[in-house]
Amino acid sequence: MIQRKSRGRIVVIGGGMSGITAALEASEAGCEVVLVEKSASLGGRVAALNQYFPKLCPPQCGLEINLRRVRTSPWIRCLTLAEVERIDGAPGNYRVDIRQAPRYVTEKCTLCGECVEVCPEERADEFNLGMGTTKAVYLPHEAAFPMRFAIDESVCTGTECGRCVQACVYGAIDLEMKPETIQVEAQAVIVATGWEPYDAQRIEGLGFGAYPDVITNVMMERLAAHSGPTHGRILRPSDGEPPKSVAFVQCAGSRDQNYLEHCSGVCCLGSLKQARYIREQYPEAEVYVFYIDIRAPGRLEDFYQASQEDERLHLIKGKVARVTPEDGTGSLVVEAEDVLSGTSTSRSVDLVVLATGIVPSDASEIQVDGGLRTDAHGFLTREQPSDGLFVAGCAARPTDVATCVRDASGAVMRALQFCRE
Ligand SMILES: Cc1cc2nc3c(=O)[nH]c(=O)nc-3n(C[C@H](O)[C@H](O)[C@H](O)COP(=O)(O)OP(=O)(O)OC[C@H]3O[C@@H](n4cnc5c(N)ncnc54)[C@H](O)[C@@H]3O)c2cc1C
Repeated sequence: MIQRKSRGRIVVIGGGMSGITAALEASEAGCEVVLVEKSASLGGRVAALNQYFPKLCPPQCGLEINLRRVRTSPWIRCLTLAEVERIDGAPGNYRVDIRQAPRYVTEKCTLCGECVEVCPEERADEFNLGMGTTKAVYLPHEAAFPMRFAIDESVCTGTECGRCVQACVYGAIDLEMKPETIQVEAQAVIVATGWEPYDAQRIEGLGFGAYPDVITNVMMERLAAHSGPTHGRILRPSDGEPPKSVAFVQCAGSRDQNYLEHCSGVCCLGSLKQARYIREQYPEAEVYVFYIDIRAPGRLEDFYQASQEDERLHLIKGKVARVTPEDGTGSLVVEAEDVLSGTSTSRSVDLVVLATGIVPSDASEIQVDGGLRTDAHGFLTREQPSDGLFVAGCAARPTDVATCVRDASGAVMRALQFCRE
């Protein structure tokens, strides 16, 4: 039973750290919130990290508390598998059209997993970036909210099969579920649609796609996570062996006018963090980080300084020219300039990690009169065509979680001016 009077309603688009923070802050300031997330669970990209800097805690540390607050708040309505199609109206008086795709699994689900046992269809495991598969009926990940299976309609054959329906003694599967259109009135909208990893296939010469032991930084997070495809053991994809040496290629495609011109701001610290994952698992492993310059803003400098104390972590200032297979050894050769010695250098390693950058999620399907405004890099600008639309987190620029949280609070403060009792 809701006792207090609502101050108004805010729609938050995107259920990552920025969107969750915005939803919680707005609800605690007295607003009703409709939180719209396009995937089957909240958490965004942070949920897929193994640990996050600066404290190197698992993502569940921050997420679990926040998700519990979302779950228990009578003020937040959370719509997953949902996208905003259109925003009409003016500040203080918007109408938001939301389309929610069917989940096919209802709240009766107890997570018994009988449906998974009988499901005959498989799909690429998107949470693990295609490293492994799940059944068509899947749990988004082990800490998902809502903690409930979903069915991927792109691979499920529906009532033609129906084995999951028969297996579910709780009657939690409804293959006749239809998409729904939901209309919401709101005083303000916060867009927190976040980021995607830059497509490493587009980068020439660094071997992604050609050699299985060239992976990306986001793949490394999943390899290191106990809920990942290798249950937390960092192994070479080609042969499942532990790597004895690993090279990180910084600015892979970033700060490069051929690919991404911007700096993503988090990749240097991301790689230093991942170097620690490797060194903790393999005390004898050598790690090379090829960088243009290390960007560790503010207090993250401490993290960078501490990393330099590791004598098996070699920081080499120089841009990597190419990655090629080494004849007959199964290893990879990383060739780069070594700026400080004025020479070129090459290293033979077992695994190469490309520190690819952050690109904005495509928010173009959100129809607004005048269209959502973007900057030269495709991120949403602070100034939008309507004054009651606000942008938070990585939708606006690449940044770390702490900044996203501050950003989201700021967006809520500005949104509240349109929410009057
Ligand atoms: C390799 C790597 C490692 C990193 N490690 C760290 C770290 O250790 N510490 C740290 O502080 N930061 C780290 N970061 C940065 C961190 O991931 C981001 O700061 C954080 O994910 C930003 O949160 P967000 O909510 O803005 O975006 P996201 O996490 O991308 O969340 C956006 C959400 O919006 C949803 N969405 C997208 N489009 C729509 C739509 N149209 N409708 C509805 N929903 C939509 C998405 O599904 C997603 O759930 C790392 C980044 C990289 C690349």
